[in-house]
Amino acid sequence: MKFICGSDEHGVPITIKAKKENTTPQAVVDKYHKMMGDAFKEFGISFDIYSRTSSKTHAETASSIFSELYKKGLFTEKETEQYYDESAKQFLADRYITGTCPRCSNPNAYGDQCEKCGSSLNPTDLIQPKSALSGSTPVLRKTKNWFLPLDQLQPKIKDYISSHKEWKPNVYGQCMSWMESGEGLQPRAMTRDLDWGIPVPVEGAEGKVLYVWFDAPIGYISATKELLPDSWEKYWKSEDSRLIHFIGKDNIVFHCIIFPSVLMEHGGFVLPDNVPANEFLNLEGDKISTSRNWAVWLHEYLIDFKDKQDVLRYVLCANAPETKDNDFTWKDFQTRNNSELVAIYGNFVNRALVLTHKFYNGAVPAADIYTKEDLLVLEELAAAPEKIAASIEQFRFREALSELMNVARLGNKYLAETEPWKLIKTDATRVNTIMNVALQICANLAVLSEPFLPFTSQKLAAMLNLTSRSWSNASNTDNLSAGHTINKEELLFEKIEDAVVEAQVAKLKKPEPVVEPTALPAIKTATSFDEFTKMDIRTATILEAEVVPKTDKLLKLLLDTGIDKRTVVSGIAQYYKPENIIGQKVCLLANLEPRKIKGIESKGMILMAENEKGELCFVSPVTSDFTNGSLVK
Ligand SMILES: [Zn+2]
Repeated sequence: MKFICGSDEHGVPITIKAKKENTTPQAVVDKYHKMMGDAFKEFGISFDIYSRTSSKTHAETASSIFSELYKKGLFTEKETEQYYDESAKQFLADRYITGTCPRCSNPNAYGDQCEKCGSSLNPTDLIQPKSALSGSTPVLRKTKNWFLPLDQLQPKIKDYISSHKEWKPNVYGQCMSWMESGEGLQPRAMTRDLDWGIPVPVEGAEGKVLYVWFDAPIGYISATKELLPDSWEKYWKSEDSRLIHFIGKDNIVFHCIIFPSVLMEHGGFVLPDNVPANEFLNLEGDKISTSRNWAVWLHEYLIDFKDKQDVLRYVLCANAPETKDNDFTWKDFQTRNNSELVAIYGNFVNRALVLTHKFYNGAVPAADIYTKEDLLVLEELAAAPEKIAASIEQFRFREALSELMNVARLGNKYLAETEPWKLIKTDATRVNTIMNVALQICANLAVLSEPFLPFTSQKLAAMLNLTSRSWSNASNTDNLSAGHTINKEELLFEKIEDAVVEAQVAKLKKPEPVVEPTALPAIKTATSFDEFTKMDIRTATILEAEVVPKTDKLLKLLLDTGIDKRTVVSGIAQYYKPENIIGQKVCLLANLEPRKIKGIESKGMILMAENEKGELCFVSPVTSDFTNGSLVK
């Protein structure tokens, strides 16, 4: 079995992020690949390989699969009209076009969706479309792309999915409903007019790249090639391979429909055998959003909850949205930590180890005669690995984790009922047996915890001086032999106080200000210094201010420019009250042609800074007594 993962590094959102952060897409993906790789390591998530789709092997693999399908005549070539930005000289991805939503009049709707009313849109639906690259009005231009004819492939895909009735109902049902509702599957473009991605390896496709969801799943093949250059085909091409994708529900269509279509039409590859997709996990009742900062950041978690990776792992698994959307709350995090990990698992292990040191100086006592109760406990202990494994193999991880906790419960209950701390005074021989049984439960817990709580597993094994954590030993009930010495106990889990989780909730409620990528206009096209020097910008002071009658935006201002006193009408009444700006220093475009506004001759224009929310603010010299009429240049 190989566990393969990678960063999917193509697609429009990455190019948008690069623009927003004023850097290159490559720099963005390098940063996040490292961040995610580090987070996986820090949280004990290990892969045989964690690769990335910007690798050379991947470009070659995806390119060759596309070429093969192209040669087979699979794709439909279609010319469509798409928005083109003439000043940026490029076609605009849907997300690069903003405009007014035709349904709710939100002026900041995207070409694919209005985030205010939730309508899904086509770029041509937008009223007054604008390019997010240059701010200019885009024009429609013809462009050619290659489509995967999912409509024609539907019968084959349906046969394939119907042969997997064992899939989780949410996954199976979702796929069937796409095929059976409306007009069924529709052709989807597998190429894009974009400059970030894998070039389309076809003549006449200059300036186009493979659609990110064409190439991303092929990344699993590329990563296997990188891991096993000589034997990767054994995994992808032999009929008894089982290919399993662990994903979230938003990726079902790509893993259950598009990728299998590509593999099927290409031939020679195994198809996904199961796609146990999870539903969504919300946070405190709201959709997780990294841009709104409604998220739990792993690097911050590591600072706030040092060495508590397993607590988060535990809560996420216990609460995994396996069959329906679920909610992560800090209260639940605290409860599960305090009343499950601390009160059951931690308490049992601690008692067993403390008593072993107290009674036997840390040496495992030999069991004497087992009672009927002991035998039942040992029987249950021996059966645990198979139960856990069966649940894991059916992708029921919550159930598996709960079986693990049952082992800790078993131990906790056993000690509570046998009370060796009392019995030691009257029946030391019986206590030897009890403590031996309790320690065997601890040893098996260390082994069985490894898939779920790897750090705890390691820590517990070290405390028990247990050298092997092999799963095949987990059904034994004599993993610690009599006389084996254990190490000093340490607390595995500690209580989390109210104040700590309250601070986490408070942190959530203070989201960082949202800066939408399109909110600030892009830098305008270049201008010459000569052009700029034609502007005569001066410092000035506001002497008088009053609202222009019958308007709510305009103020009539009298300015001292150091050279003259003049009237300027300015649209700032929503931001400044007249009485508050007397004496305000400003910058004035002094040689703007005079014009009449509401019957008042305005001579010049006061310069204002406008932020991403459209709010205005004066621009003024930082020295308050700086001479009026100073030239701004
Ligand atoms: Zn809308």
